[in-house]
Amino acid sequence: LLAATEVWKSFGEREVLRGISLELAAHEVVALIGPSGSGKSTLLRCLNLLEPIDDGRILLGDDDISDPRVKADRVRARFGIVFQHYNLFPHLSVLDNVTLAARLVHGTSRRVAEERGMALLERIGLADKAKEHPDRLSGGQQQRAAIVRAIATDPEVLLFDEITSALDPELVGEVLDLVRELAADGATILMATHEMAFARDVAHRVLFLDGGVVVEEGPPAELFGAPREPRTREFLARMP
Ligand code: ATP
Ligand code: MG
Repeated sequence: LLAATEVWKSFGEREVLRGISLELAAHEVVALIGPSGSGKSTLLRCLNLLEPIDDGRILLGDDDISDPRVKADRVRARFGIVFQHYNLFPHLSVLDNVTLAARLVHGTSRRVAEERGMALLERIGLADKAKEHPDRLSGGQQQRAAIVRAIATDPEVLLFDEITSALDPELVGEVLDLVRELAADGATILMATHEMAFARDVAHRVLFLDGGVVVEEGPPAELFGAPREPRTREFLARMP
């Protein structure tokens, strides 16, 4: 469904992605792990065309989205993305946050978008907060609302960047439970995470990034249980 081939990206002199290739099959959940600065966020941003790449190719379905002629907005509408810091619009209600993209980008009518939005909010137990502004929600509730906003338009691929790392520990579980549900429902997810236990539990495949390259990849049981590369072993040994 999503395939990157030999993607290179520099910021100034600094090569952040050094020939990264990855494939994501439909309904696959892949975790990106690796030290701070290894390029996880940059990779997600490049895949979503938030950053232009210097070299390489990115296919989404049959479309070459790295072709400079493609319309980035159109491509971005095919992804659902959630970042570390709650990125709900503070001046909009929770429901408007969830329905905005459907209405503006996909041209869904307000009635249909709101029906769907309310159903999603009910599913995560936030229907009673629909009219509130995001600052009235806990961090975990905000992050769950951000996830629901990301799935409201039925994107082909979900990109999650450390979506639990800004949360108080007691709020992490409710967000991970929602991701687990989406995975069980067959969503296609690429997620950068430092929650190793979660990656082990939910991901079908784990990629270990270091220094802008994929050092090792495999099913979680193998990568965590019997890492082949010394760099992977060192990294995992430092994890709590
Ligand atoms: P973390 O685990 O801390 O989130 P990461 O793996 O997501 O790290 P990136 O955020 O992708 O790492 O950053 C990789 C490198 O690219 C870092 O050295 C960072 O300073 C650099 N970098 C990222 N974005 C930019 C930018 N817009 N301009 C310049 N340098 C950048
Ligand atoms: Mg990052």
